[in-house]
Amino acid sequence: MADAAGSHQFAVRNPRTGVVDYSFAADTPAQIAEIAKALRTRQPKWRALGIAERANALSAWADAIEARRAALIAALTHDTGRWHLSETEVDGAIRNIRRWAKLAPEALGANMRGEERASALIPTVRYQNQYVPYPLAGFISPWNFPVTLSLIDAVPALAAGCAAIIKPSEITPRFVEPLREALNDVPALKEVLAFVLGGAEAGQALIEEVDLICFTGSVQTGRKVAEAAARRFIPASLELGGKDPVIVLPSADIDRAVESVVRGGLSNAGQACLSIERVYVHRSIHDAFVEKLAAKAAALEINWPSIHQGHIGPVIHAPQAKIIADHLADAIAKGAKVRAGGEVLERDGGLWCPATVLENVNHDMAIMTEETFGAVLPVMAFDTVEEAIALANDTSFGLSAAVIGATTDEARVIAEEINAGGLSVNDCGLTIMTYEPEKNSFGFSGMGGSRMGPASIQRFIRKKALIIQTGNPVSIDAMEESKAPSRPAA
Ligand code: NAD
Repeated sequence: MADAAGSHQFAVRNPRTGVVDYSFAADTPAQIAEIAKALRTRQPKWRALGIAERANALSAWADAIEARRAALIAALTHDTGRWHLSETEVDGAIRNIRRWAKLAPEALGANMRGEERASALIPTVRYQNQYVPYPLAGFISPWNFPVTLSLIDAVPALAAGCAAIIKPSEITPRFVEPLREALNDVPALKEVLAFVLGGAEAGQALIEEVDLICFTGSVQTGRKVAEAAARRFIPASLELGGKDPVIVLPSADIDRAVESVVRGGLSNAGQACLSIERVYVHRSIHDAFVEKLAAKAAALEINWPSIHQGHIGPVIHAPQAKIIADHLADAIAKGAKVRAGGEVLERDGGLWCPATVLENVNHDMAIMTEETFGAVLPVMAFDTVEEAIALANDTSFGLSAAVIGATTDEARVIAEEINAGGLSVNDCGLTIMTYEPEKNSFGFSGMGGSRMGPASIQRFIRKKALIIQTGNPVSIDAMEESKAPSRPAA
C-alpha cells in the first residue's frame, strides 16, 4: 500500500504467532537515489582516512553494537522466532566486524599502489598499478540470518574504502533500528553506511545506484539481480541457494556420521543455504544409519511453547512452509517412507517443520533436486562410490558438500570429485565454521569471488594501471606499412 509520500508500507509477521506486529515504510527509488548521492559525496573522505582509521571506526561500531546487544537480540528474536541462535548470530556479527578491523590492514595491503616496474616489451616504458575502492557498493540480503548476511560482505567493503548501502530482507527488518542507533556513536562510519528498507523495488533501485552489487538470496532473484547488474556493466557477486549432499561411506562410524548429519541438516531448522539436504549412505550401513538418524531426529523438539526449549525454530517465512509441505507430499506420493517428523505443524499461529527423516527417496522427487530449506533429511542408499559421486553431482546447485568415512584420505579423495565450492571432509558444514578457506560456488549456487577469507576484500578494489613513457614517444613511423616485417619483397 502506498502512502502520501509514495512509499510502500510493509507488514512484518512474527513467525511464532503469525501475527503482524511490526511495519515499516519502504524507501522509494527517489529516496534511495538521494541516499546514494550523499554517500558518494562523502566516500572520498572515508577512503582518504586510510585503512588504519577505517579499521578503528569499524571497531568502534562493533563496541557500539555490543552496547546494544540486548536490543539487537530482541529484534532478531522477534523476526526469526529463535532465541539461542539470535544470541549466537549477534555475537558472531560483532566478532566478524572486529575480525575484519584486525585483518583488513594486512589483507588490503597498506600501500594502495603496486611496485613500479619496467615493461619487458619496451624498456623505456614503466608501469605501476593503483588500487582504488569502488566508490559505492550495494548489498541485498535474505531473511534466514538477517544480521550476519547483511554485514558479511559490507564490512570488508567498508574496510576497503567503499561507501555501502545495505538493503536487508523485508521479511526480517527489525534489527536495522539498533544497528542504525549504534551508527550514531561512530560519525565517520555513519557518513558512508546506510540501510535502506523495502522489497524487490528497493532492491532494483539500489542496483541502479551502486558501482558493485553483492547479493545473497534465491536463484530466481539472483538471476534478476545479475540481469540488472549486466545492464549497468557493474560487477555482481551472487550467493544463492544450495542442495548440499553428504556421502556416508561404508567405513564411517555411524554414530559420528549421524551426529554430524543432524547438525549439518537440522541446525536453524534447515534454513541455511549450506544445510545438508541430501544424504547418500552406503547400502551396507543404510538401515543401521537410518535407524539411528530417525531416533536422533525424533528426539529433537520444536522450540514451542517456550522459545527457550528444543532445537528446531519456526519456519521464518510462511511461504517457505508451503514449499516444504509440497516437497514432502510429492516425495510421499512417489513412495518415500517417513521415519521421523513428516509434516509442517501449526502451533498458536506459528509454523514449525519438526526434524524429518525420509528413506526410499530418489531423484524423481523434488525433495532430492530442489531447495527445500526446511528441517528435512532424505536418505538414499548407494552401492558404489562412483554412483555416490554421480548422485552428489546430479544437481543444478554446487554450494557445498560433505563426505564422511573412516579416514581423512578415504573421504578426501571422494570430496575432490564433487562439484561444489566448499567440501567438508569427515564432518558437515565446516565452511561456516572457518573463515580462512577461499571458495567459489558452482552452478545455480552463484558466482563471484570468495566472500569469507582475507582475499575477499580484494573484490571491492578496482585495479588501475599507470603506464609511463620514460624515453622518446613511439613515432608514427614505426607504424608505417612499409616497415611491416612480413611485407613481401617488391
Ligand atoms: P529472495 O531472493 O527472495 O530475497 C533476497 C533479497 O532480495 C531480499 O532482500 C529481497 O527483498 C530482495 N529482492 C527480491 N526481489 C528482488 C529484485 N527483483 N531485485 C533485487 N532484489 C530483490 O531470498 P530469500 O527468500 O530472502 O532467502 C532465501 C534464499 O537465500 C535461499 O535460496 C537460500 O539458499 C539463499 N541464501 C544463500 C546464501 C549463500 O551464502 N549462498 C546464504 C543465505 C541464504
